[in-house]
Amino acid sequence: MHAVSQEMNEWIDGFLFVANKPILDLLNTKPVLADGPTELLPDVRALERWLIASGMVTSPKIRAIVRSWRHSTEAAAFLKHLIAYRERLRETVLRIENGSSPTDAFLAEVNSLLLQYPLPSSLHKRDGMVIRETLFDLRKPTDLWAPIIDATADLLAETESSRIRKCESCVVHFFDTSKKGSRRWCSMNICGNKLKVAAYQRRKRASRAPAFGG
Ligand SMILES: [Zn+2]
Repeated sequence: MHAVSQEMNEWIDGFLFVANKPILDLLNTKPVLADGPTELLPDVRALERWLIASGMVTSPKIRAIVRSWRHSTEAAAFLKHLIAYRERLRETVLRIENGSSPTDAFLAEVNSLLLQYPLPSSLHKRDGMVIRETLFDLRKPTDLWAPIIDATADLLAETESSRIRKCESCVVHFFDTSKKGSRRWCSMNICGNKLKVAAYQRRKRASRAPAFGG
């Protein structure tokens, strides 16, 4: 998984990447667009495109494996499970953002998936440094659980919860990596400017007409 530069590549192949964490980017595959809440992962073909856009799938060999799932009932069943999981994760992230902790039921589900789909890793020396590399072997759709559950565990246990935040103006979640920790919007281009323009117009109107009390 690679980090995506915030300003340059917010949308890749129709998917939003503004969260600074792929697991939150996965959450953001159901944004509210002009027509209302929009499912960006309606079928296995869309999942394949998201895996490539997110950088989870890169090599030609793995791309070919994922392509071969297009008409697989196993992949369709996995996607259905993944979407349901995504919504339970959304509830959990909303709880965290409200200062609460995950439910025991959700932790039990994550624990069960952690046991079922462990993400093995190994250590290598490179330029005198020891590097930890995950050994993610993707063959069947359910193999995707390993990185997804590992990322969930990282989000719940290793991430500063006060920096997990929802955009003030839409449904998009992100991890705030700004120096001051004061990021408020999914993106300056999407919600930030819109709100700044609205505030400016409100001020302009207020200065033109007598303000109503309220
Ligand atoms: Zn937003």
